[in-house]
Formats: sequence, structure tokens, C-alpha cells
Amino acid sequence: MTERKVAIQLTGLHKRFGDLEVLKGVSLTAHSGDVIAIIGGSGSGKSTMLRCINFLETPTAGEVRLHGELVAMQPDGQGGMRASDPAQLNRLRARLGMVFQAFNLWPHRTVLENVIEAPVHVLGQNRDAAIATAERLLDRVGLLAKRDTYPERLSGGQKQRAAIARALAVDPHAMLFDEPTSALDPELVGEVLSVIADLAREGRTMILVTHEMQFARSLANKIVFLRNGLVEEEGPPAELFDRPKSDALRAFLAPKY
Ligand code: ADP
Ligand code: MG
Repeated sequence: MTERKVAIQLTGLHKRFGDLEVLKGVSLTAHSGDVIAIIGGSGSGKSTMLRCINFLETPTAGEVRLHGELVAMQPDGQGGMRASDPAQLNRLRARLGMVFQAFNLWPHRTVLENVIEAPVHVLGQNRDAAIATAERLLDRVGLLAKRDTYPERLSGGQKQRAAIARALAVDPHAMLFDEPTSALDPELVGEVLSVIADLAREGRTMILVTHEMQFARSLANKIVFLRNGLVEEEGPPAELFDRPKSDALRAFLAPKY
């Protein structure tokens, strides 16, 4: 087997908001082609960890490597850190696709305009080429007919599929999903999961925060259980779901009623 490239690597990541230490030394490696599911209770630091990967939050300490490259950081003089090479950071994070629980589409732009935004304005692509790519991606997620529609006219499932097309438009090295189906009515969850499953099967590198345990089990090659800002347990799905080692994971997985 050829050695797989490291796509994302977090080493000893800390994040503090004032007095609240949310991440207490998280390390995680995603190789190219990995599908990693992050599970854990509310407030355990899952979103914060994901947001530190693309520097929507700046870690307080620790290292982030994207596509094998260490993101340059230096102390910010206030006990935290800041990215010290904005050009490097922008270059590296431009190729991460992020999908949020709340979709985060631009409300005053059509579906198509949402999808071409980053390719044109961040990556500097030619507009016609970006439109051609966007149409192909919208077709793939079943939304080509909605290309000129505004987000408010879409169902939740359609919004999330548009957000996935938008994330794909930067030809991402890796995709980050933060509870992509949590805001959806139950009958719309399936259409979004099936798009994500399709991407996973084509070998996309992804880190996915989810409460859909069956989905995580069927799709991920690694499960990471986060608790109180630390990785409590990680391993292949069969190991974590069938033979949890810690009481905390056993309790987390136990049927609620
Ligand atoms: P999860 O996604 O696992 O539910 P989060 O990463 O969203 O957890 O939050 C972890 C903790 O950090 C929570 O206690 C939350 O209130 C806190 N937190 C998250 N973001 C901020 C912020 N910007 N400012 C202050 N506290 C925050
Ligand atoms: Mg969260």
C-alpha cells in the first residue's frame, strides 16, 4: 500500500474563551481519503475543534497542519496565538470545504451565485469556468433546477445540498461537516446523508461531526469521541461502537430510553 498523505493534523490543540478552556490538548490526524466522524456530547468542543482547523477560531496553543504544511502561528501578546502569515493561511484554508449546521448561505445571492462566490473571489477563477463547474456540482446534488433560486425559497435539505455544492466548488483537499443534518426535519435528513455518503465513497477526505451514529458507523473509517475538550477514545467504528473502553463512551452510546 502506498503511504497516504496527511491531509489535516492537529497536535496538542488548546482553545480557551476567557476563563473557559474548551480544548485541552486535542490531537487528530486525517490522512488523505479518511472519513473521520467526531462524536460527543453537547459542549464537548466538537464545533470549536472543527473551527480551529480552518481558523474560524484561532487555537490558543498547539499546531495545525493542512495538506502537510504547518500553519505559521505566533503569540498574540495576550496569551493566545495568531496566524502569522495571512497569505499562507488563506492559501491553505481556501481548499477546505466547510458545511455548517445552519447552512450559512448568502441570503441575497442565488444558489448559483453562492456556489461561485469562493471560486471567483477567493481562488480568482474565471467567472464562466466557475459557472460551468457550479452547474456540474448543482446537478450532482440534484439542484440544477434551483440554480437561480434564493436560499429562502429552498427546503432545509435543498439548502444543505446547495451548501455542499458550494463547499465542493473550491475543489477541496478536505471537507469539514458540522452536524450537517441537525437542523433538518427528519424527512429531509436522508437526502443530505446520501450526498455525503456519495462523496465519502469517492474517496473524499472528510471530518464530520454528527449525531447520526448508524451513518457514522457505515461511512467512517475512524470514530473520535470527544469529551470535555479531549479525545477520550478513538478507533475503527466496530471497536468504538461494539467495544467502548470508557464508561463515558458507554454512557454516551447507551439508548436514552
Ligand atoms: P459542541 O460543538 O461539542 O457542542 P462547542 O465547541 O460548540 O461544543 O462548545 C464548547 C464550549 O465552548 C461550550 O461551553 C460553548 O459554550 C463554548 N464556546 C463555544 N464558542 C464560544 C465562543 N465564541 N465564546 C465563548 N464560549 C464559546
Ligand atoms: Mg457543535
